Amino acid sequence: MPEGDTVYRAARLLDRTLAGHVLTGTDFRVPQLATADLSGGRVLGTWSRGKHLLTRIDTDHPWTLHTHLKMEGSWHSYMRGQRWRHPAFSARVVLTTGDRLAVGFSLGIVELLSREQEDGAVGHLGPDLLGPDWDEDRAVHRLREDPDRPLADALLDQTRLAGIGNMYLAEVCFVAGLHPTTAVHDVPDLSRLVRRAQQMLELNKERATQTTTGDLRQGRRFWVYRRDQQPCLRCGTTVVVAMRGDPGGERASYWCPSCQPGPT
Ligand SMILES: [Zn+2]
Repeated sequence: MPEGDTVYRAARLLDRTLAGHVLTGTDFRVPQLATADLSGGRVLGTWSRGKHLLTRIDTDHPWTLHTHLKMEGSWHSYMRGQRWRHPAFSARVVLTTGDRLAVGFSLGIVELLSREQEDGAVGHLGPDLLGPDWDEDRAVHRLREDPDRPLADALLDQTRLAGIGNMYLAEVCFVAGLHPTTAVHDVPDLSRLVRRAQQMLELNKERATQTTTGDLRQGRRFWVYRRDQQPCLRCGTTVVVAMRGDPGGERASYWCPSCQPGPT
C-alpha cells in the first residue's frame, strides 16, 4: 500500500518525464479507455492529492488523467527502447513524448476526467499531508469529529487527512507512544501527533528509501513497521503484530507493548 510520499514522488517522476511536453502517443490499456487518444495534447503537470494522481493534459479539451496506485501500482520513466522493469501485460497506461515514456503499471484507478470533474474524484479527501494547502488545524478538527474511533482507523481514513498508509500509521503511533487502538479522544496532544505524521512524510518525500528512524540500514529503517518478532529499537521488548479490520480488508498493526501500552 503506497504512502502519500510515494505518490508524491510518482508525481515528480511524471513531471520530469512529461511536464511541458506534447504527447506523441498515448496507450490506455483499460477497457473503458481502449479508444481514447490524447496524442497531440500538452501535459501541464501531475499533482498528487493524498494517494491520487492527477495528470492534466490539454488537447482541444482540458483533460485530467486520474490514476491511483492502490496496492501494487507504480509509474516508471523509460527511454524509448529501454527494457521495462515490470511485465508489459501489467502496464495500464503508456504516455509517450518524443523518446521518453511514462508507463503506469498495475494501477488501481485509470480514468479520464474533464478538468472540472477533478473535485468529484478527490474532493472527499481531507487535508493532504504533502499538499501546498496542508492545514494542520483542519486535519485535527476532522479527526475529532469521530472521537471514539481507534487511531488506527481514523488515521487511515483519507477523508480525515490524506496520505497516511499502514507504514506511517505504525510509525507515528510508536513515536507518540500510543497503542494503535487508542481512541482519538484519549490522544493527549492530537496536534502534535498530526504534526509528526506530516514531518515524517515531508522528510521522506524526496528520498528513494523511506526511513522514520533516520537509519538506512536493513531492519533499522522503521521503529515497528514489519518488525514483529524483533526487539524494539528503543527498549528491546519484542514488537508484536495483529490483524485488524473487516474480512478481506485486514491490515497488520505493529506496536511495542512496552513503549505503546494498550488500552486494557
Ligand atoms: Zn519499546
